Amino acid sequence: MNFEFSPEDEAFRAQVREFIQQNLPKDIARQAYRRGNAVSREGIRHWQKTLYKKGWGAPHLPLAYGGSDWSAVRKHIFTEEIYKADAPDAGWQGLHMAAPVIIAFGSEEQKQRHLPPMLSGDVYWCQGFSEPNAGSDLASLRTAAVLDGDTYVVNGQKIWTSEAQYSQWGFFLVRTDASADKPQKGISFLLIDMSTPGITVRPIEQIDGGDELNEVFLDNVRVPKENLVGDLNMGWSYAKYLLEKERTTSSFIYYNKRQLDVVKDIARRELDNGKPVIEMPEFSRKLSRLEMDLHALEWSVLRVLADEKSSFNLDAVVSTLKIRGSDMQQRVTELQMEALGLRSLRYFNLTQENDSDTGDHDLWPDYVPGRAAQYLFNRASTIYGGAQEVQKNIIAKLAFGL
Ligand SMILES: Cc1cc2nc3c(=O)[nH]c(=O)nc-3n(C[C@H](O)[C@H](O)[C@H](O)COP(=O)(O)OP(=O)(O)OC[C@H]3O[C@@H](n4cnc5c(N)ncnc54)[C@H](O)[C@@H]3O)c2cc1C
Repeated sequence: MNFEFSPEDEAFRAQVREFIQQNLPKDIARQAYRRGNAVSREGIRHWQKTLYKKGWGAPHLPLAYGGSDWSAVRKHIFTEEIYKADAPDAGWQGLHMAAPVIIAFGSEEQKQRHLPPMLSGDVYWCQGFSEPNAGSDLASLRTAAVLDGDTYVVNGQKIWTSEAQYSQWGFFLVRTDASADKPQKGISFLLIDMSTPGITVRPIEQIDGGDELNEVFLDNVRVPKENLVGDLNMGWSYAKYLLEKERTTSSFIYYNKRQLDVVKDIARRELDNGKPVIEMPEFSRKLSRLEMDLHALEWSVLRVLADEKSSFNLDAVVSTLKIRGSDMQQRVTELQMEALGLRSLRYFNLTQENDSDTGDHDLWPDYVPGRAAQYLFNRASTIYGGAQEVQKNIIAKLAFGL
């Protein structure tokens, strides 16, 4: 297999890079670099709109729905350049999760209504799957929707709902048949307007000081019948489809590569006994190890993107990418902390709402403020998107028949 990018693909990369250079406002990129996850909502919206106007709002989607007909390699190049430039990757739950399901199983009316504002960055979405007693064992979810005339009446509680407070819409898994012989068979996929009476969003205090996670309470929430996606009680297969569509994103390869660059930036500029940290043998050994592992992960991602035939079950391969990718998210941010030494201990108040840096933030080099928060947030990378142990169970079963 040849992994060289063709001259045409390299020309495409140059075109993407030039567009980003000319259109990504410097203050948004600086904010992303300085603050890690906590880019302001306004910044995210502005950038998504810029991409949308160019026709690049969601290249991973089919062309007929505002996406692109780019090859897998070009989509890879595009996302890599986005991350390299510290541009926000907007609308994860909407564009990457809800949109593919709506396109594959939604009604024409749902497509017309929801896809354009999602692509343009005008409407944000959250994902209401997990519940207090249904995370890894998602099929045991209890939030129930009961049909009453033309509306479903929804009652229950969701948890860990990322960015619910910034989302105008959410896609939810709800129980519509409690008597089904298997729990997976009684679940449906509902689109819910987050401003509907009966919805309460309560933030969860985070270790990183961020404001991303929430509990969502649904108390007699009335949802029009036409907001059901596809068929009743088929929600589980749609949710599985959603996860299958995102085969390689769980590797967080683009994020990890960018953060490795940041490690190098820091380690070149921070000094230990007058010498750049990057020259310390123990540090550079760890850096080299991480870089090699990251190369290996990237090649694995490219092999999946290239549809290379493998003797392993693809689901097992995807679980492997998730395990390696999330492990690397933790290692790369740990190494940033190590390069910063005691400076990593300084607390900075960084949330998506608080988008004006206050106090003495500007007195610190740009690479300092967001690092500790990212390191802390990434403790969760081995949990969200499928916990590590659960992924290992999948590999044991599917790849080794255990
Ligand atoms: C930062 C973050 C963002 C999130 N965003 C969203 C979101 O937007 N929407 C949403 O719906 N959900 C979201 N989640 C929830 C996420 O999907 C769940 O946290 C995840 O599925 C794990 O479920 P749980 O927290 O209930 O843990 P549990 O399932 O209770 O797991 C607890 C521990 O037990 C282990 N374990 C569980 N089952 C097994 C088993 N069979 N064998 C061995 N070990 C096992 C797990 O590996 C883990 O270590 C988010 C979570 C985080 C941390």
